[in-house]
Amino acid sequence: MDFEFSEELQAFSREVEAFLDEHATPDVADVLRENMAQIVDTPERRAFMKKLSERGWLGMTWPKEHGGQEKEGIYEYVLNEALARRGAPQIGKGVGIIGKTLIRHGSDKLKKEFLPQIIGAEVEFAVGYSEPNAGSDAANMQLRAEKVDGGYRLNGQKTWTTSAHFADWYWVGARTDATKKHDGISLFLIPMDHEGLEVRGLPTIGDELTNEVFFNDVFVSDDYLVGQEGSGFRYISEALDLERFTMFTYSPTEQRLEEVIDLVREGTLDDAPRREDPVTRQTIARLATEAEVARVLGLRFVHAAGRVGAKPPTVEASEYKLFATQLSQRVANAMLDLAGPGAQLRVRTEDAPLRGRGDMTYRYSVIDTIGGGASEIQKNIIARRGLGLPKNF
Ligand SMILES: Cc1cc2nc3c(=O)[nH]c(=O)nc-3n(C[C@H](O)[C@H](O)[C@H](O)COP(=O)(O)OP(=O)(O)OC[C@H]3O[C@@H](n4cnc5c(N)ncnc54)[C@H](O)[C@@H]3O)c2cc1C
Repeated sequence: MDFEFSEELQAFSREVEAFLDEHATPDVADVLRENMAQIVDTPERRAFMKKLSERGWLGMTWPKEHGGQEKEGIYEYVLNEALARRGAPQIGKGVGIIGKTLIRHGSDKLKKEFLPQIIGAEVEFAVGYSEPNAGSDAANMQLRAEKVDGGYRLNGQKTWTTSAHFADWYWVGARTDATKKHDGISLFLIPMDHEGLEVRGLPTIGDELTNEVFFNDVFVSDDYLVGQEGSGFRYISEALDLERFTMFTYSPTEQRLEEVIDLVREGTLDDAPRREDPVTRQTIARLATEAEVARVLGLRFVHAAGRVGAKPPTVEASEYKLFATQLSQRVANAMLDLAGPGAQLRVRTEDAPLRGRGDMTYRYSVIDTIGGGASEIQKNIIARRGLGLPKNF
């Protein structure tokens, strides 16, 4: 088996790096925002995405009939990981989640309206599945979508909707049938500035905002129902497989680990070179091995996902997300352990070891093991779908 990228892929990777050298300026790319670096929340970040679009790098794997190039998923992987490594905005939500789901299940009208905007970097989305009583058990969502003439009327609440405070459109699940659980859920697209939608910010442990969103008699026309009424949960499950992979990238963990390794190479412990301390060496060697496992699990997902049109591989997505996000926490622990007392300094403190990344990564890496489905839920999926063990809830 050949694990090396092809010559063509290596050339693409070099092209992406050269692009980033030129365009990933500090106002657009910031690794200290951790995984929130991926969101496109400022005019500068929007302009950056527009440049990616002009290069033809948005929707590369999509079918040609929808403006794509039918390239293999590995191209998007290389691009997204390179963006993530620099703390630049990423292609995840629009191209990877909403676009791919619309291609598989959306009406011609929705495809025509949204796919060109996604490829043209003209639209940002927020994703609304979670509610106060429906997080891990997303199928328990209670936001009510009542059928009325020509559409639906939505009332209720979502929570933890990241990006709702700047997005243009809301990709949202709601209950169209209270007598059925999974088959009672439908998926809708709603303009974020729609009358009756109220967004309230929720600060997180990782410094950035997520949001609560309240629906007060929000009318959505039939045209903005995604796919079939009652099939929303199936689409959401597929979209979550994509989210678990595209929005929880590997390269930032690798990049942080490289900073820790540099610290070990150059630092001292009790006036002796840190690199000679056996416990430190073992910690670092183990993390480096685990980083390689996370990288390969990611490539395994890309391989299993194949081209767009294939159903996303659920077990591979969960295995990757579980391992990669927990590894990120182990790297954060190592940052705090190895940087010494200075590791307690807040991120962006002048002269803090590792620029205060220990503090930030430690706080933020909690979020990554929760968003997109908590680690326990990933384990449940692997146990049930991968190993055929019985359902536990
Ligand atoms: C910063 C942030 C951003 C987010 N962004 C979004 C977003 O944009 N859109 C969106 O829809 N959601 C978003 N989420 C929500 C996220 O998907 C949920 O927080 C997550 O699914 C967990 O749900 P919960 O918070 O309700 O916790 P709960 O479901 O109440 O879980 C609490 C704990 O119990 C465990 N648990 C629950 N059920 C089981 C079980 N059956 N077996 C074993 N253990 C279990 C969980 O693993 C967890 O540890 C975001 C969350 C955060 C923190």
